[in-house]
Amino acid sequence: KLGNATAKAELGRAAWKLMHTTFARFPEKPTDEEKEALRQYVHLFQRLYPCGECAEHFGQVLKKYPPQVSSQKAAAQWGCFVHNVVNKRLKKPEFDCDEIASHYDCGCADEDKDKDK
Ligand code: FAD
Repeated sequence: KLGNATAKAELGRAAWKLMHTTFARFPEKPTDEEKEALRQYVHLFQRLYPCGECAEHFGQVLKKYPPQVSSQKAAAQWGCFVHNVVNKRLKKPEFDCDEIASHYDCGCADEDKDKDK
């Protein structure tokens, strides 16, 4: 039982990290195609999320709070908000969403410059 709980928590930390980092790297002015891609990404993430109980709950969250894809900031704030909805349900502390911009840096900001390296 402990093993299961540990694995579920590790999966959660990895999944949230990927999700928030993806939002941090989303374009400030996305095209319609990019908006639709992010929307689909979030919905497929929910549908295929390996923890069934988590996926079911997150599906309810998405119904109530559909992904915000109009800009990088909107996506990042939405991601922070829905993570806080999950935190609340799991009785975890609320994260300050003003801190989100400085918290998720993948180290790939210079990727265009470094493309040939
Ligand atoms: P996590 O919640 O994993 O957060 C990791 C780190 O992200 C934190 O240490 C903090 O630095 C940062 N962070 C915290 N809150 C925010 C925020 N709002 N915005 C940005 N960054 C933040 N577990 C269950 O037991 N039951 C479930 O039903 C369940 N549903 C889940 C649904 C989804 C979609 C996901 C991705 C995970 C779910 N989990 C669920 C796992 C759970 O959310 C945690 O990931 C896990 O319990 C580990 O928690 P943690 O305390 O290490 O921090």
